[in-house]
Amino acid sequence: MPRKKSRLTRKKKSDKKADKAPPEGLLSEREFVALPNDYGSFIVEDSEHEQHKFSMDDMAYIQHHDSGESGDAIKDNHWIGKIREIRGNGPDNVWVRVQWYWSPEEVAKVIKSFNPDVCGKYERLFSNNFDIISVSCFVDHVEVKQFEETSVYQDVIEDEEWYSRYHFLYDGRRISPKVTHVACPICKVPYTPGMEKVLHFCPRPGCCKFYHQQCLVKHGYLEKTREYRLLETWPDIDRTASVRDLADLGSYHPRKRQRKNISSSKESACDPLADFPVQLVAVAEQQIVRGTQGGGVVGNITSVVAARQLIYRALAKGDAIPVDWETRINISTASSDSDTLPNCKCPSCCSPI
Ligand SMILES: [Zn+2]
Ligand SMILES: [Zn+2]
Repeated sequence: MPRKKSRLTRKKKSDKKADKAPPEGLLSEREFVALPNDYGSFIVEDSEHEQHKFSMDDMAYIQHHDSGESGDAIKDNHWIGKIREIRGNGPDNVWVRVQWYWSPEEVAKVIKSFNPDVCGKYERLFSNNFDIISVSCFVDHVEVKQFEETSVYQDVIEDEEWYSRYHFLYDGRRISPKVTHVACPICKVPYTPGMEKVLHFCPRPGCCKFYHQQCLVKHGYLEKTREYRLLETWPDIDRTASVRDLADLGSYHPRKRQRKNISSSKESACDPLADFPVQLVAVAEQQIVRGTQGGGVVGNITSVVAARQLIYRALAKGDAIPVDWETRINISTASSDSDTLPNCKCPSCCSPI
């Protein structure tokens, strides 16, 4: 349940005065563990008498206990935390250990070298920083999705959904993974979701990097015409192998495969891909991109990589295309207007990207 506005997620630790969340100040660790009952969930009622049940490991909007705000005003001034332990000694005295998500701006106050401007508007950093707070501070449920930038299994993150891609190790004053580790290899600047237009991805096992399109263009990583097809930038192997190479050398048996949307057999003799579902090939032929003009925060990485893997494994290993391939691959990614994207190539392996 993403919220449109958020100025604040977590006050820094040194703000340990009256504006901290709990009603009577923070409960000490000793007081918390001495509470006799260990609960699995709790219920709070909001100002409109709607009940919200919170359970272990839920993520929640958390507010100052006496904020006196309601509706959107609450959402404007909240923290986000994950429920890690619930203890109490009766319904009127229940306390919760929360693990905080920090806002980039608050992290930057602790780690001076951290630039919050490279984070997206809906980005939070999951910390190893805990507090014990009263249940009266809990407002509503929220989801913060994990964003692994180079994962080929990354879930979709919509434009106004919260996500977290860095861990903030509070005690060591560190960010993990290092921001430079996941940055564009050309300019060393990380991806800023919601701000950058298009990034291109090379899925080769030895590469697995995203590059800013403007960096690729500026440094001339371009091809006038494509020597290899885009789908031949296989996520399974680092070496160059055309569709024809794989079909000739592999265990490719088109007749054994279920045929669907198949072109004429004459065409099949020329192009091994003529035996594959047309829409599957269309997805695999996409450039792998993300950005405000590249399919959103995550882009099409999951579907395009999955499509190329299915085709590669069919050609090279004789694996059948699963009958339910369309449930695993979003064919709507094939409709994006990739004709307008430049013919970029990977600076590392020179494959088309
Ligand atoms: Zn760059
Ligand atoms: Zn590459």
